[in-house]
Amino acid sequence: MALVVAAGQGRRAGGTVLKQYSPLGGEAVLTQTLRRLLAHPRIDAVRAVIAAGDEALYGEAVAMLARSEPRLLAPVTGGADRQASVHAGLSSLAKLNPAIVLIHDGVRPFASRDLIGRVIGATTADQGAIPAMPVVDTLKRLDNGHVGATVDREALRRVQTPQGFPFAPILAAHEAAAREGTSGLTDDAAIAARVLLPVKFVLGEEDNMKITLAGDLKRAERMVSPRPLLPHTGMGYDVHGFKAGTNVILCGVEIPFDRSLKGHSDADVAMHALADALYGALAEGDIGSHFPPSDPAWRGQASSVFLAHAIARVAARHGRIVHVDLTIICEAPKIGPHRDAMTAKLEALLGLGGHGVSIKATTTERLGFTGRGEGIAAQAVATVLLPDTEGLADG
Ligand code: MG
Repeated sequence: MALVVAAGQGRRAGGTVLKQYSPLGGEAVLTQTLRRLLAHPRIDAVRAVIAAGDEALYGEAVAMLARSEPRLLAPVTGGADRQASVHAGLSSLAKLNPAIVLIHDGVRPFASRDLIGRVIGATTADQGAIPAMPVVDTLKRLDNGHVGATVDREALRRVQTPQGFPFAPILAAHEAAAREGTSGLTDDAAIAARVLLPVKFVLGEEDNMKITLAGDLKRAERMVSPRPLLPHTGMGYDVHGFKAGTNVILCGVEIPFDRSLKGHSDADVAMHALADALYGALAEGDIGSHFPPSDPAWRGQASSVFLAHAIARVAARHGRIVHVDLTIICEAPKIGPHRDAMTAKLEALLGLGGHGVSIKATTTERLGFTGRGEGIAAQAVATVLLPDTEGLADG
């Protein structure tokens, strides 16, 4: 059973909406938090603790969820602070008398199934469990407005929720604290310590953030909605000289000719330019940095291996190739008769159809090295959509 504390009155910075009811990915933050808990197979019921006066807000936020989810219990009204709200929530569950209870912040919508499972797994009849993260930043004391002594971070943990407790002892601890007039405890582990209930740490999660500061909601938005894709353009250029031979390979297609192209691999100048255009769009170096010509492994290699690597790098960056445009520059051989075969080859490798692959050819009017028939040059431009990981689209 899980209790979700959502009675806080903190609002979005400069806004009028309470943080737990702020929209996130088309739903209220609180609704997403409740959904996560209800999705866990070991949670049989979930109850929210809300502030007096928030009934309509809550009803609106969970209207859809409540229709399909009988395990979402009616909310109860919280108290003056978090401790009082948790106490009210636990008291309301007394009749149901669950073996263990998870106590969770309404503004932590990203607790994963694994995390929830870890907390439940470590909570027993005589032990609580709370998720926590090590402190990685150096900690300093504030000393009269100046930087003071360093605090030993090895012994410190950043504590998260959901926190798991055996139900009867944690309810008893809250009742005792209320009787004694202790108030303002922000954490149930502190309450548990009062009745000497041992509490164990389990590993938390960086993504299990608490939406409190103004920037948190923006970060949370990015976590629920995929980042927008932005177009990146890359350019590639390559030249290979002729040698004696019987064919050239362009875009993976063998073209009979009275010479061949010199090169370490199969010397597919067009595919090399294209691979470099893709690396360029990714800003990930060039073909030579990924496949050093000094490495004998690439001798005679089909250039589709290089292109496949560049394509895999786009996929690894969660990108999408949308268009490539190639220009092959030579006096001979004639490209026109082979254009369709070359286009089909690239379409298959790139996973592009329609008008995604353009192959053009030109001579240089017998000028320069291509004009003198000394070799073939190729230029390529690739357009790749990449996730906006740097927030460029946010302005
Ligand atoms: Mg080359």
